[in-house]
Amino acid sequence: MKKLSSVALGIPPSPTIAIDDAVRSLKAQGVDVLSLGAGQPDFQTPEDVQQAGIRAITGGDTKYTSVAGTTEFREAVAEKLGRENGLHVGPEQVMAAAGVKHALYHALLALVEPGSEVVIPSPCWPSYRDMVRLAGGTPVDAPLDDASGFALDAGRIAAAVTPKTRVVLVNSPCNPTGAVATRAELEAIGRLAVERDLWIITDEIYEKLLYDGAEAVSLASLGPEFAERTITLNGFSKAFAMTGWRIGFAAGPRHVVDVMTALQSQTSGNCSSIAQKAAAFALRGADPGPLRHMQGAFAARRELVLRAIAGWSGARIHAPRGAFYAFVDLSEYAARLPGPFDPNALARHLLAEARVAVVPGEAFGDARYARLSFATSEDILNEALGRIGSALEALL
Ligand code: PMP
Ligand code: GLU
Repeated sequence: MKKLSSVALGIPPSPTIAIDDAVRSLKAQGVDVLSLGAGQPDFQTPEDVQQAGIRAITGGDTKYTSVAGTTEFREAVAEKLGRENGLHVGPEQVMAAAGVKHALYHALLALVEPGSEVVIPSPCWPSYRDMVRLAGGTPVDAPLDDASGFALDAGRIAAAVTPKTRVVLVNSPCNPTGAVATRAELEAIGRLAVERDLWIITDEIYEKLLYDGAEAVSLASLGPEFAERTITLNGFSKAFAMTGWRIGFAAGPRHVVDVMTALQSQTSGNCSSIAQKAAAFALRGADPGPLRHMQGAFAARRELVLRAIAGWSGARIHAPRGAFYAFVDLSEYAARLPGPFDPNALARHLLAEARVAVVPGEAFGDARYARLSFATSEDILNEALGRIGSALEALL
């Protein structure tokens, strides 16, 4: 038989998704396993947003929409960006997509070509690197300093820029590190992009999940000279617990959004008409109570996780200021495992000994770490953290 595409064969399955697939299959075999793996809120989509989706179905919003999204959705997003992010765009600068994932893929397809480099501050969400490869480009890591809590340092990003660089991809609040970039850090990246004539893609999906007074700033709001070269991505998966609805958006310069829309017309067409209706309602009319409840629950879980980790004598962590992950340095324990160093060995050990799934830090770009998601109930967290703590301390 003919071979498969070498590009496709070079793309591994998303490691964050693979973890939960593995947990599901273990559970199906009757194994008592807990997951602190993939990050998705354990909450239900708020009731009023659910009802907006149901009304969309019964009211006949079940047809193709414009590829870039309905006028209602695009207007609701433009209003939200102005109101909450200080970013003033028209609805024609917005494209609805099947999640931030799909919006990002089309942004990369629009900006990247063979030979282009995309600089990605690392550690980062694993899909960034593989999507750049799928778009024909080369991902280039800009390693951040863990001593600073992986602060978004424009100097380190500048050091990774070459004449081939097209795009800098920024994610704040960051998955996995929980770092939240300051206004000054983002301005420095904006200035770098202007000086070196680069595009910026900024993934702001965790903007609503902040702790200890952290503030989420939209890079494109910091000046028109930045906005003209920035594609802002955001969605509903995290803030409104809508992972399964597959809805997100990109906003940016009109000519880039038009190219992304032409691409999307050839790949998926519009994203779900029903999800667009529910998401527009979420932005314009939803009761803020459930969002506040989820934010409070995540903040309490974060405290619980940090308390547990403080009791693990060999662990080191910078408290996350955003998102819902604890990115913890467990290298002291990994060094005690028998055999030559294997970046996935500690996660395997925890799955075997503690029956808890975590994502190895290597997937994000730093093998000393593991990522523990706290988007799960306090009961599960207590049990899982207790089991991990015992398995780790037994190694010392
Ligand atoms: N960006 C980051 C940083 C993420 O962690 C995720 C994971 N869900 C996504 C994008 C994708 O989100 P969506 O469900 O909107 O595709
Ligand atoms: N973003 C989540 C995570 O990092 C969900 C899985 C994925 O889309 O990668 O776990």
